[in-house]
Amino acid sequence: MRISGYSTARFSTWYYLDELKLLFDAGDGVSSALASKCQRVQHVFLSHADRDHIGGLLQFNQLAARSDRALTYYYPKDSGSFPAFRDFIEQFDPNLAKACWVAVEAGQRIPVASNHVVEVGENDHIAISGGGDAGLTKSLDFRVIESRRRLKLEFAGLAGAEIGRLRAEHGDDHITNTLERPLFGFSGDAPSFDAARWRNTEILVHEATFIAPDAADRGHCELGEVIRGATGLDLKALVLGHFSTRYDADFIRAAIMREAEAAMIAFPIYAVLPLTTVSDVLAGEPVWPGSSVRSAL
Ligand SMILES: [Zn+2]
Repeated sequence: MRISGYSTARFSTWYYLDELKLLFDAGDGVSSALASKCQRVQHVFLSHADRDHIGGLLQFNQLAARSDRALTYYYPKDSGSFPAFRDFIEQFDPNLAKACWVAVEAGQRIPVASNHVVEVGENDHIAISGGGDAGLTKSLDFRVIESRRRLKLEFAGLAGAEIGRLRAEHGDDHITNTLERPLFGFSGDAPSFDAARWRNTEILVHEATFIAPDAADRGHCELGEVIRGATGLDLKALVLGHFSTRYDADFIRAAIMREAEAAMIAFPIYAVLPLTTVSDVLAGEPVWPGSSVRSAL
């Protein structure tokens, strides 16, 4: 899986999944990094309206809005900022093709390809850090789920023609099960690590804004909390980003090694270091190697 991205607390966050042409958040710099790839994107998932996650939207929209195919932005249902931004863009760039702006909330599944949906989750990042109402949907996270149909075991020995006859007679659901694989998760900004939310996820991109001895603030996570929280998960890779610029690369790497060793983490941990655009996160060297699962990615 090719993941491109940039994620530095206070300045900008975005991640792009190349195979599915999905963009998660649209911080400053996203257009210049993706360049002509902007025009391939049809689905943009926006976790919340803090400027570091949407600062690149105006330019991105100008490059991605096309009359020959749909472009859709998905945003937290109770955020008033996104409708305001939509109205501004439509007035500022009246000659552009209009994008769709869709308000979403936890539990919704958005089809993004024939075998893939994005499942919406939510957290209390805004409610907790901004003093808002925890009952409102203002901050989201996302999972990309692949689903494939597989022949039920009881039909495994049948010839193709017989399977075709059963399918025609009884439908797909009669002869196949649907298997779901949560391929990718993106935490957005999170006030805490939600292990239950990320169960079975293969590759998780999570924020880790602060590093001990600094404590997490009310809206973001501390690195050790994330790594310890992920201990019981069967990840193929953990990608950490959204670090504060108060930490340099060596300090971050040392902290990841220390926490991963203490928690005996079996999967590799990658870092999107501050002020650095990464074109293929998983192709780089992991900070923590984990065991030998890299070849399976
Ligand atoms: Zn942020």
